[in-house]
Amino acid sequence: MSLKVNLRHLEGRDLHLEGELPVEELDFGLSDEMIQARRPLHYDLHVEKVAHGLLVQGKLDLTLDCQCVRCLNPLEKRIELPHWTLHLPLEGEEKVSVDNDCVDLTPFVREDMLLEFPQHPVCKPDCEGLSKKRRGNAETGPSAWNELDKLNFRK
Ligand SMILES: [Zn+2]
Repeated sequence: MSLKVNLRHLEGRDLHLEGELPVEELDFGLSDEMIQARRPLHYDLHVEKVAHGLLVQGKLDLTLDCQCVRCLNPLEKRIELPHWTLHLPLEGEEKVSVDNDCVDLTPFVREDMLLEFPQHPVCKPDCEGLSKKRRGNAETGPSAWNELDKLNFRK
């Protein structure tokens, strides 16, 4: 069920690949509780053979289940790459590994999707969440730093 291109199917014609890739295949290795990938990734790709390589162009689409880092409410974060482009050399030092005439696109999809993952998901840009309460306490309560400043001033 992984996302592979059979080079023999590309002899003399382009390929259209469309479907869903189970998230287990992508194995994002997420350790962050705030971001969970549970749903399949949808792909709609055009693959053609170009000089010395493969050219893959198309759309990748994945919805993540996140938690707002400020208010801890659940939220969905959709990551869409509408013009994903991948060039894979089939010759030379940088050439991609070919197994049984097949090139696995999965690692490249994984890498490029991970770059788009939110670092700190928030439900909305101005979510004041829990951090507002914390800040309020700090402003109204007596500050140890203020007391220290006074001591220093006396010296
Ligand atoms: Zn929030």
